[in-house]
Amino acid sequence: MKRQRPRTCVGCREESPRREMVRIARKPDGDVVIDPSGRVPGRGAYVCAREECVREARKRDALSRALKVRVPSEVYDALLEMIIERSGEAEG
Ligand SMILES: [Zn+2]
Repeated sequence: MKRQRPRTCVGCREESPRREMVRIARKPDGDVVIDPSGRVPGRGAYVCAREECVREARKRDALSRALKVRVPSEVYDALLEMIIERSGEAEG
């Protein structure tokens, strides 16, 4: 049941297939980590693997709201880095 729930991007607010999104998890100890594997326990939020969605989420601090904890800007930086790196690979 749980895995069939649609994932909504915190940036564009649209639902997308899980594989096109990146999970960000708030671990039980309160630490916020990027969780591409989807295996980190705790509350999760999803964003499309697209630069504009991460930037939009950052502008509204949507991750902090979704995870109900202050998300440091390093998390957004790391997300952008990861996405830019990935898209470079796809083109190469
Ligand atoms: Zn999006």
